[in-house]
Amino acid sequence: MNSILTYIAIADGKIKRSSLEVLSRCKELANENGLTTEAVVLHPNAESFTDQISTYGADTIYINTHEVFTSHNNEAIVEALTTTAETSNAGILAFASTEGVKDVLGALASKLNSGVVSDVSSFSIEGDAVKATRPVMAAKMMADVTVTGSPVLVSVRSGSYELTERASTASISEIEYSPSTDFKAVLKEILSAQGDTIDLNEAEAIVAAGRGVKDEEGRALISELASVLNAGIGASRALTEAGDYDPSLQIGQTGKVVSPQLYIAVGISGAIQHVAGMANSKVIVAINKDPDAPIFEVADYGLVGDLYKVLPPFIAAIKEIKQN
Ligand SMILES: Cc1cc2nc3c(=O)[nH]c(=O)nc-3n(C[C@H](O)[C@H](O)[C@H](O)COP(=O)(O)OP(=O)(O)OC[C@H]3O[C@@H](n4cnc5c(N)ncnc54)[C@H](O)[C@@H]3O)c2cc1C
Repeated sequence: MNSILTYIAIADGKIKRSSLEVLSRCKELANENGLTTEAVVLHPNAESFTDQISTYGADTIYINTHEVFTSHNNEAIVEALTTTAETSNAGILAFASTEGVKDVLGALASKLNSGVVSDVSSFSIEGDAVKATRPVMAAKMMADVTVTGSPVLVSVRSGSYELTERASTASISEIEYSPSTDFKAVLKEILSAQGDTIDLNEAEAIVAAGRGVKDEEGRALISELASVLNAGIGASRALTEAGDYDPSLQIGQTGKVVSPQLYIAVGISGAIQHVAGMANSKVIVAINKDPDAPIFEVADYGLVGDLYKVLPPFIAAIKEIKQN
């Protein structure tokens, strides 16, 4: 194994933070194992991202600026990444576990005839193998998986690693790739969910509402708390099923898996299916009127009380701290 290659995902004209977390981890592993660190970015403005990518330690950055990469296109990405993998000959291809990556990982593994381990919370190199830990059974258990072969494809949950700047002078290399013109599927439109202004997978902070949030007044408190913290809003299935929040905001086993720096669960009991989606958050704060609610078992900080009474002074205190 000579190098590790990280795929840099772009969304809304910006690099996804989770890709840079993975690149930070790859640089660390490369330093420990005497390997070079590579990255690939597929976007019409790929060149505009290379300075930021090299800040996180990439020695070589492969780019392709074809217009087809303006929006997500499975076939084109798989074809271009296959070419990149063959050009680079990297032993590991690492990805942030984004929705787009979930769409292409299996096909890419099949094209490259490689082993794949998806949605891991950590990974390392042991000899010629990649050792990874995957949360399984709704994150109640952790499975240690060892994958051999070359390359090994790894996708990593967002928030699993810190962003670590290690500036380098990267060489830029254009990947020879011309897409076929007859794609079987093309992305026509992305419909964003109502109120989903902050991508929960990228959010630094999330305020999540559960069934304890019973009415418009409660939802207004959630929005205000999220606004003062510049946080994304999430919800338990109880509230997405009730139609109070868009299904895309559901967090849990059958919703999104998130790992922000701060997760505030408001009026959420902490059912295993919900915890599966947020247990990896760095700091968990739970607000619940029931002192025996299971959410307190995973919380770092707990506030026992009626959210309608607790949230107004809580929000006021945060506003005051932010003003000073
Ligand atoms: C196959 C399967 C998949 C599932 N997937 C998911 C999933 O992805 N995500 C998910 O969230 N759920 C999922 N569920 C549902 C899950 O089991 C729970 O039913 C759900 O998470 C409960 O939501 P909740 O905590 O909001 O509601 P509840 O369990 O009803 O809890 C409400 C909490 O609010 C508190 N409360 C009430 N009033 C107040 C107040 N005024 N102030 C403070 N606290 C108050 C209560 O004490 C209680 O703890 C799934 C279930 C199944 C079977």
